[in-house]
Amino acid sequence: MATTVARTALELEIGELRHAHSAPIVTTCYLNVDGALRPRRTDYLAAFALLAQQAQGVNVEDAEVRTAHDANVAMLARWLEEHFERSRTRGLVMVCCSRDSWFRAVPLSVPVHDQIAFGHRPHLLQLEITLAKAKRFGVALVDHEKMRVFEYHLGELSESSALFEGTAPHRDRQRGWNVSSSPSGSGDAAAQWASAGTHVDRREVATAERHLVRCAAALTDHLDEHPVDHLVLGGPTPERERLERHLPDRYRSRVVGFAAVRVAAPLDEIHAAVSAIALDVEKRDDKAVRGELATASGTGLAIHGLEPVLAALSDGRVKQLFISTGLESRPGSLCTLCQALSLSEARCPVCGGTTTPVDDIVEAAVERAAHSGECRFVRREHLDAAMGGVAAIVRY
Ligand SMILES: [Zn+2]
Repeated sequence: MATTVARTALELEIGELRHAHSAPIVTTCYLNVDGALRPRRTDYLAAFALLAQQAQGVNVEDAEVRTAHDANVAMLARWLEEHFERSRTRGLVMVCCSRDSWFRAVPLSVPVHDQIAFGHRPHLLQLEITLAKAKRFGVALVDHEKMRVFEYHLGELSESSALFEGTAPHRDRQRGWNVSSSPSGSGDAAAQWASAGTHVDRREVATAERHLVRCAAALTDHLDEHPVDHLVLGGPTPERERLERHLPDRYRSRVVGFAAVRVAAPLDEIHAAVSAIALDVEKRDDKAVRGELATASGTGLAIHGLEPVLAALSDGRVKQLFISTGLESRPGSLCTLCQALSLSEARCPVCGGTTTPVDDIVEAAVERAAHSGECRFVRREHLDAAMGGVAAIVRY
């Protein structure tokens, strides 16, 4: 069966971020506006000011290009100052070309690594990596007669349209046909199903059970077609638990949390419940990653600092690369012979060959790591300057 992954509004928007010039005058700026890291507006404005300063320091020979660069940075600053409202945004990507009065802003619900870059076209690598790494959450809300299924990705919650209609059980309750006179034995579905003190309509119990079995099967089919990393279940506890029990292992093991919302809850409410769980999962993942890094340090398989990490990348030994969100981009060089990456060196530290300058060696490292292993951005407080703002787990 073909796997289809729905393209979100965000992904479509990014697909439209195309703007090219013969001269390198398109500016791309990534700004971390995560409230957890930069609680006040002045915090992220200060971070932007640093990037602007860095942009000014870039050596540009062509006067026209220099003017365009400066005008771009001014355009970004003005937009940030006058139009940006953070709301739920944690990472902001701004792309502009002042010469064509062209400006795009992409607000993300995930943090980004501060970066400013100039080029012939938008610099989208970090955005692509961020998108590729963002976890997809499947969400199923179930009660005794219906199920709603959603997908949560990059802060957006979208509902599967009408997929699970028609699975509601036939509820022709007949009064007087209760089974309280013949109590079921322990372990019987009816006994588990009924809350204490209620009369149990066996037929209704069987119908509800069939409904949940059908929901689990429908959800399984849906997830087979729309793969997710994690699963969130919600609705009244008994139904939600039964749905979970009926799921195959491969999906039951992906359940990461329970949303305490009604099936008929409005989207806002569901969104709030799911995003809280997603945030917890993100924190848990971050913690797990830091644990892996600590374990690797203990076994001598972790390295810290840009220079040794670049050397390991050049050897193809890097399994996982960790970049602090506080790490600033800086120039470096690429060997024309062996492709080794290094800090600005005229001669390759590996083979002694000639090198060619690279505007942003951090970016080049991320790109290299993305090809050979995995790259993750880590909050600045967990990978501080003492560790050089960059670390890696190596294969050997
Ligand atoms: Zn070399």
